[in-house]
Amino acid sequence: MQKYIDQLNEAQREPVLQKDGPMIIIAGAGSGKTRVLTIRIAYLMSLGVDAFSILSLTFTNKAAREMKKRISDIVGSSEAKNLWMGTFHSVFARILRSEADKLGYPSNFTIYDSQDSVRAISGIIKEMQLDRDVYKPKQVLSRISSYKNSLITVKAYFNNPELQEQDAMSKKPRLGEIYQNYVDRCFKAGAMDFDDLLLKTNELLTRFPEVLAKYQNRFRYILVDEYQDTNHSQYLIVRALSDKFQNICVVGDDAQSIYAFRGANINNILNFQKDYEGVKTFRLEQNYRSTKNIVEAANTIIDKNKTKLDKIVWTANDFGPKIKVHRSLTDSEEGRFVASTIWEQKMQHQMMNGQFAILYRTNAQSRAMEDALRKRDIPYRIYGGLSFYQRKEIKDVLCYLRLVINPKDEEALVRVINYPARGIGDTTVEKLTVAANHYKRSIFEVMQNIDKIDLKLNSGTKQKLQDFVTMIQSFQVINENQDAFYITDHVAKKTGLVQELKKDATPEGMAKIQNIEELLNGIKDFTEGQREIDGTRGALSEFMEDVALATDLDKDTSDEDRVALMTIHLAKGLEFPHVFVVGMEEDLFPSAMSMSTRSELEEERRLFYVALTRAEHQAYLTYAQSRYRWGKLTDSEPSRFIEEIDGQYLEYLTAEENNYRYKPMIDSDIFGDIDKSKLRLAKPANGTPPKKFGEESAPIIRKLKPVSSNPLAEGPNLFDNKLTAGNIVIHERFGKGEVLNLEGSGADKKAEIKFEVGGIKKLLLRFAKLDVI
Ligand code: ATP
Ligand code: MG
Repeated sequence: MQKYIDQLNEAQREPVLQKDGPMIIIAGAGSGKTRVLTIRIAYLMSLGVDAFSILSLTFTNKAAREMKKRISDIVGSSEAKNLWMGTFHSVFARILRSEADKLGYPSNFTIYDSQDSVRAISGIIKEMQLDRDVYKPKQVLSRISSYKNSLITVKAYFNNPELQEQDAMSKKPRLGEIYQNYVDRCFKAGAMDFDDLLLKTNELLTRFPEVLAKYQNRFRYILVDEYQDTNHSQYLIVRALSDKFQNICVVGDDAQSIYAFRGANINNILNFQKDYEGVKTFRLEQNYRSTKNIVEAANTIIDKNKTKLDKIVWTANDFGPKIKVHRSLTDSEEGRFVASTIWEQKMQHQMMNGQFAILYRTNAQSRAMEDALRKRDIPYRIYGGLSFYQRKEIKDVLCYLRLVINPKDEEALVRVINYPARGIGDTTVEKLTVAANHYKRSIFEVMQNIDKIDLKLNSGTKQKLQDFVTMIQSFQVINENQDAFYITDHVAKKTGLVQELKKDATPEGMAKIQNIEELLNGIKDFTEGQREIDGTRGALSEFMEDVALATDLDKDTSDEDRVALMTIHLAKGLEFPHVFVVGMEEDLFPSAMSMSTRSELEEERRLFYVALTRAEHQAYLTYAQSRYRWGKLTDSEPSRFIEEIDGQYLEYLTAEENNYRYKPMIDSDIFGDIDKSKLRLAKPANGTPPKKFGEESAPIIRKLKPVSSNPLAEGPNLFDNKLTAGNIVIHERFGKGEVLNLEGSGADKKAEIKFEVGGIKKLLLRFAKLDVI
């Protein structure tokens, strides 16, 4: 432990060693806030604090996993696995499941994603016969969401004439009724939306003092990363849980508060000192992430904001290259510049794709980047946008699976009851919905009792409804004993979903089937992982929980080396050697929708600060003089943010250089404008990309054939006797690794293996598919 503490600087060490009491660490980007939190948790554990009593809240589940891994490396994984770590949503979903009965919810409640919520609200608007142009479902949802995050329940809404007046003035006098119906509908379906996870947690902690006491006693130490972006609802949860022991440590940077539009309240950080007695405040000033040029340029930007805490950020790192500014004529040229620069850098400096990130203000900007990267054959991954799990074919499978877990789930039911077509028409579904509302039961329950209710349905339709019920119930029986993979595969086939997709022989149709295969692969990975890690079967309900709460970053489970594309909002907390901030244009960034007040503009500026401070070595700012927006070619001016940076940190790429780069690429000659001498490095055959390039520095990723014939794959195996520390092994999914340690015996025997890609993992030998080489 001491080794890790010694690696910290003096200012970082202090908050780590301060064991008890309320404390806040306010510090700029890259100064080690997240690192301090991580080491602090490990240190608490080394002092004997039980992992079960430490709660740590992070911005993404991925961040939580990474923290847990680092802590495991320090204190050992058997200890670290008991830490409560994750996003607010995932941690409190878990607590809500075990306390659900108190709120009248089933413990297997469904979590609605925003698509489900919008659908439910659309349905309500239709039933209430309101004008969809006035009551736009998405807008209505965001209004309801902001009420929930401010803890304004339906009852509180109707007790507050001011709010009602506001909605009436914005031509939505019936918003309260929609809110009421939506809440009723979710309750009846045994479903919570994202905001409910926080709202209901607050309700639980306020209405049930014994529950509050239980969790106050459990979580003796609470730590929150990115505290500047907590909303009111999250703030109250933290406040309540930490009230007894007051061992609360929050870290944040007011300059990186970028979620005000979603209800985040920067005052939570500013008022922390007032909320608790005897708060210790720590400041970190040294940035370890970025070059001097980047750190100092970022300082000059944030200086323009009036609302801020005074902070110093400096770095001992090199000056590094200046920030490169690049102008192009159109957005597609901008894409070409980015792609060719990445390509050149990879060529010249043996860089990996994963060392580059392209950040933008809005998701729509990714398209031009994608086109250019594809032409250069540079692998990339987009985070955000329509997530994998929201694609139609995937969501269809998932909705069946949701029904298996919770047949009351109405959004899931309505979506798949007649897909693939089985002769249950809209009129029937409407009749079922009306009856369900009337009897205050779920649609599924109505269907189960279809013989006893007179819905004026003919016997054929009744039979179809009963068949559907029987089918779902048969899945439930199977699900009791089988793992998530088995049941999903079964559902995809038995419901006819796969056959339905196979009818469509177009490339789009094929892509859909591939997506379903991809889903199955992901589930296989999950079930195998569960078996190897803790010997459980990998139940469907656990997989579905992961899916429901997966943030966009969390899906990054594969080890493939790709360029990362994401919005700046998503990039918070991350770092990359090279960062391109694209679309640096007025009206785009700062966004036209966020320029009318100073506080909005300041939030945009903070967003720019976040973007720039993701870069470790080289930042690029690019803009186009015209781009397609809303289907029209629009002229644009460079963003004011470029001018706000002190010129000494910038290097404007010259026109000649631009010309050189601008030269449009011809597909058949993808190396068109690259220095020919470099081509010798990796000569492309027929325009194929230089696959071998950079192999020296690339980790070995081996795709092995399934080792089904491997006698070691199943049951207590030869490894029990043969495997020793130091052995080099190949694992079917993780590739090559070195055995560090063996522990346990017989069926519980585990090997700790350090994989070249993916780090250290502990695998149960009974299941681990390994080959010694
Ligand atoms: P952000 O505000 O962007 O979330 P942060 O303050 O959380 O940044 P970290 O991500 O913890 O900063 O640290 C930034 C980088 O600096 C990381 O790569 C981290 O490992 C490294 N770092 C932090 N402290 C030290 C240190 N004392 N010595 C060496 N490297 C450090
Ligand atoms: Mg951080």
